[in-house]
Amino acid sequence: MIHAGELVTCAGRGGTAEEELEVVEDGALLVAKGKVVWTGTTRQLLQKNLGKAKKSIDAQGSLVTPGFVDPHTHLVYAGSREDELERKAAGESYISILAGGGGILRTVRETRASSAAALASESVGRLSQLMKNGVTTAEVKTGYGLDLAGETKMLAAIRRLGRVSPVELIPTFLGLHARPPEFRDSKEYADHVTRDILPAVAAERDRPTFSDCFCEAGVFSAAECSAYLRASRSLGFRLKIHADEFAESGGAGVAAELGCVSADHLGRSDISGARAMANQGVTAVLLPGTSLYSSIPYADARGIIAAGCRVALGTDLSPNSWVESPQFVMSLACTGMRMTPAQTLLGFTKHAAAAVARSDIGVLAEGSQADFVIHGVPGYRFIPYRVGGSYVLSVFKRGRLVYDSGES
Ligand SMILES: [Zn+2]
Repeated sequence: MIHAGELVTCAGRGGTAEEELEVVEDGALLVAKGKVVWTGTTRQLLQKNLGKAKKSIDAQGSLVTPGFVDPHTHLVYAGSREDELERKAAGESYISILAGGGGILRTVRETRASSAAALASESVGRLSQLMKNGVTTAEVKTGYGLDLAGETKMLAAIRRLGRVSPVELIPTFLGLHARPPEFRDSKEYADHVTRDILPAVAAERDRPTFSDCFCEAGVFSAAECSAYLRASRSLGFRLKIHADEFAESGGAGVAAELGCVSADHLGRSDISGARAMANQGVTAVLLPGTSLYSSIPYADARGIIAAGCRVALGTDLSPNSWVESPQFVMSLACTGMRMTPAQTLLGFTKHAAAAVARSDIGVLAEGSQADFVIHGVPGYRFIPYRVGGSYVLSVFKRGRLVYDSGES
């Protein structure tokens, strides 16, 4: 690939986000067998006299970045919840809708009534939209089954989806997402999941990488999440936590104490929680699209970064917040959370890869996976700057073209 107006490798060294991005003007990229072999300028590449490449792509001055990694999605589910827009407009909150048997619990009813095949085919369009916006790897959570049959069915649906889509999927077992109505209280349900469902999921042939829980006032307490995550860790899962989205619930502290790979949301976390996370290398995953949908404050991104935390961004694509555009989330992160364009791009590339415990994606460096995107804009600052349109020209996964807009 030659003549990238800006080739952003995200593999730079240095203290600032801009240095970490490593922007190469008139950039070039050499790929073999699905991996990056070399990066540099077009001039350097042409001087190398490599003989004839099997295939050559001219980016014609466009921006080239690593493929986006979406580290937090709930994209597999049945049904939809568009009626909640009117309920929220009338003053109801996300938590009050959930407490009344709606929200997640409505999606649980519809997901339980669906088959793995139907779930996969209902979700493929959402995954395809993510891909058209440059996503080459996406984490996908369960959590709408809330019983063993439902959760293993969701895992089967994620596996099916992974077979038909070029997007690489990273499955997460979200064991504690909401209390199903057949249980009296959250503690009773958390104990049941930890004792009965978690070991069965761990024994699955194609078991998920991560285990996750929703630590929130009125959902699951820090003590319930801590016990569940300890059990998950002893069964070999890597850990994630939904922390402090609506209220300070001790989630960031649990993430630091147990060495979670990521703590997500963090809208109400205090700064001591962020410091503890930074000390333990926990990646903060911020989800400003969800703040928008639930009309709740944005996370204190600048404070979390100043505390030394690595900050990733995700779409949180779910039936609550149907967000399919990393570009839109990056705009929100710039305008609502005062992150810089460089910080938001790292948020969907290198830092998002860290949030799913991967170092071979989210960067374009020798040996990394050749996942990259050609954007119809001249530089990386245009991604958060230009909102609402679709300007990805082409998407490559492991060196193979998987999406072409037809406009290049
Ligand atoms: Zn979530």
